[in-house]
Amino acid sequence: MSGKAIPFLDLVTMHKELEPELTEVFKRALNTAGFIGGPVLEQFEKAFAQFCDTKYCVGVSSGTDALRFALIAGGVKSGDVVITVPNTFIATTEAISQAGAEPRFVDIDEYTYNMDPVRVREYVENSCTFDSRLDLLIDNKTGKPVTAIVPVHLYGQMADMDALQEVADQYKLLVIEDACQAHGAKYFSTKENRWRTAGSIGKAAAFSFYPGKNLGACGEAGAITTNDEQMARKMRMLRDHGQSKKYYHDMEGYNGRLDAIQAGLLSVKLKHLSDWNESRQECARKYNELLAAAKGSVLAPYEPAWSRAVYHLYVVQVENREVVQALLAKENIGTAIHYPIPLHLQKAYANQGYRPGEFPVCEKAAERILSLPMFPSLSEADQTRVVDALVRSLQAMAAQTAATVSE
Ligand SMILES: *Cc1c(COP(=O)(O)O)cnc(C)c1O
Repeated sequence: MSGKAIPFLDLVTMHKELEPELTEVFKRALNTAGFIGGPVLEQFEKAFAQFCDTKYCVGVSSGTDALRFALIAGGVKSGDVVITVPNTFIATTEAISQAGAEPRFVDIDEYTYNMDPVRVREYVENSCTFDSRLDLLIDNKTGKPVTAIVPVHLYGQMADMDALQEVADQYKLLVIEDACQAHGAKYFSTKENRWRTAGSIGKAAAFSFYPGKNLGACGEAGAITTNDEQMARKMRMLRDHGQSKKYYHDMEGYNGRLDAIQAGLLSVKLKHLSDWNESRQECARKYNELLAAAKGSVLAPYEPAWSRAVYHLYVVQVENREVVQALLAKENIGTAIHYPIPLHLQKAYANQGYRPGEFPVCEKAAERILSLPMFPSLSEADQTRVVDALVRSLQAMAAQTAATVSE
């Protein structure tokens, strides 16, 4: 081991700085017994809707519930097919399955790691038929209706929403954004000639406030944003046992509310989110610079001109990823892999009949991606050390390979 530890993620510093304000939220909750619902929740919902540039925000208990409620409220039901990507956290497909539907994967763009609109169109136009009498897209092989798309704004960068929305509009597909990693990310819509915020484009969008996200609770929390009043009303009912008012259940729902304490803590942290995102963007620029100067064989993230990513993660590609990760760990540098196994190759989906090689872009990336330390208080000095160590480990491996070849 050498050098001071550089963690993959530092969640302690920001909470230390905000400790007085955060404990005040807890004290107020104790004094008023305002634990569920009420003004603290409503204030947060209002502020987060404003941050995302949407009319409504519905606080829920996790990002997974946010996705599930948005899909159900949008009309996704048992027997439907929902299009998404294989390189995401399993919550995306769990929510689809729990809404009664089945996920249909399409491959990703090799540069942005996000849903490739070309692959979506390919699936829709080559493997489905639009039944104009029913106004439904039908999967040719299974005869099942394809009703929604869930693009995931992975690593804090938005998917190419204009292109996806165009396919969706053409074939009457519901779009639910998985914005769980993209609080505050921006996308330049050529169609509308303006910058748009993550969570404001689809019919609804899911956010997670899991502690490690760009905006994290001190526990579990999530939210759904939408501009559709009906959707917002339905999602409020779904999170609270289908109640339209207390003990009047219009349908069965779930216990999926956002605690008032978490909402209060999130309100305190939301005020800093834009600054924190800017710090992350600054860190990303610094990493890009250092990596470019090192001229090594590290592939830095790609940010298209239409994107303003918020760098939930800073993900590079390297050869011999496992060895590189171990060498960095030896130097006390924390890294992670998001995600090592694409969903279609997970045990959970073994009975779905997927084969390795089906989504080659995603599978190739999964073997090479490495997430470097990234958080708002990451210092330039630490970033320099990370890149130095990274470049040195790659050189060491190259030397080893050369030696083996010449033996
Ligand atoms: C974190 C995350 C989720 C799930 O959020 P939870 O709050 O943990 O339920 C869903 N999708 C993506 C892409 C995520 O990163």
